[in-house]
Amino acid sequence: MEKQTIATSTNYQKPDAYGALSMPVYHCASFEFGSAKNMSDVFCGRVLDPEYSRIMNPTVTFFEERVKSLTDASNVFAFNCGMAAITNAIMAVAKAGTNIVTSNHLFGNTVSLFRNTLGNFGVEVREVNLLEEESVRNAVDEKTCALFFEIITNPQMEVADVGMLADVAHSHNVPVIADTTLIPFTEFDGRSLGMDVQVVSSTKYVSGGATSLGGLVIDYGTFPVFNRRIRYELLFNLGGYMTPHAAYMQTVGLESLDARYRVQSSNALELATRLQKVPQIKRVNYTGLPDNPFYEIAKRQYGNTSGAMLTIDLADKASALRFIDRLKVIHRASNLFDNRSLAIHTASTIFGTFSGSQRRAMDVLDTTIRISVGLEHVDDLYEDIVQAVQE
Ligand SMILES: *Cc1c(COP(=O)(O)O)cnc(C)c1O
Repeated sequence: MEKQTIATSTNYQKPDAYGALSMPVYHCASFEFGSAKNMSDVFCGRVLDPEYSRIMNPTVTFFEERVKSLTDASNVFAFNCGMAAITNAIMAVAKAGTNIVTSNHLFGNTVSLFRNTLGNFGVEVREVNLLEEESVRNAVDEKTCALFFEIITNPQMEVADVGMLADVAHSHNVPVIADTTLIPFTEFDGRSLGMDVQVVSSTKYVSGGATSLGGLVIDYGTFPVFNRRIRYELLFNLGGYMTPHAAYMQTVGLESLDARYRVQSSNALELATRLQKVPQIKRVNYTGLPDNPFYEIAKRQYGNTSGAMLTIDLADKASALRFIDRLKVIHRASNLFDNRSLAIHTASTIFGTFSGSQRRAMDVLDTTIRISVGLEHVDDLYEDIVQAVQE
């Protein structure tokens, strides 16, 4: 069956008493049992049934099952945001004395999670250049608990070779965890690329236009530790499970994901192409442009679309800040892949609390504006940008 059909199919775990076409929202904390034995079976993990909505809820399970059929994963876990998904995936494998091999081109809160939060618990983070096989080989050792990377880094827009990363990691029996937020998981096959687990901020493409926060751990079952620890330990102890209301909205979002993504990614390509000819814009960074250094590898790994995020560089910091102030159609906001287009000066916001030298080390420039392209007509977006870059 085609993915778009799967995304809109009804397949409940149990028949709905009224034949509801969308999944009812089970807005309840706990579930009643038929017998003491049944209760004990569920609590001791012999039977998988909802007991308490911190751990399992039918509306959330429904959403997880739909993502599972779209990705052919072994297990899918839904969390209340992308950071909770990342935290759970890492907590499943990390312990004091182990290390995470990654780069310093990462989402700002992930950098802080690795360096600060996990650093306080004796987990070391090794930030290397993931584009260089030699650096990756030198960093991975018998104490490595995960190789973590983002499929397109933000705002640098770099694309690492997943096959190479997987070869190095797997030769040490280390799982590859990919943050795949920047391209919908329906566009590529993570397992055949060599990923063991995908983590996704479903707040972005999946939610259906920023309706709710959400996060996903998409586990291919290659390292059974993920399923075991998340299902039977971390969901109980950390408390990051998705709420039924968010799961309902994210399921509805999933149904229109493909249609929205087609428009947003083609708008982004069209906009990037036109912006290259605007003299005040010094650089347009988008992997879908044929002269982008990552054009070939991005296409080979992630398919024919290149996502709905691009960056532009202006002459200096003052021009970049003035650009943000002048926008009339594009919204001044963080977040990605809303139905509306959003723009942000990353150096003074998301990375604003890092020092100048830390930002330089991460290649976060004062001249860069990140744009998340929405569903508006591309002519209006283009005109807005052109008027905002005037001196
Ligand atoms: C937004 C984002 C996150 C965090 O997701 P939340 O849902 O905001 O917690 C993680 N990684 C990437 C690449 C993101 O864009």
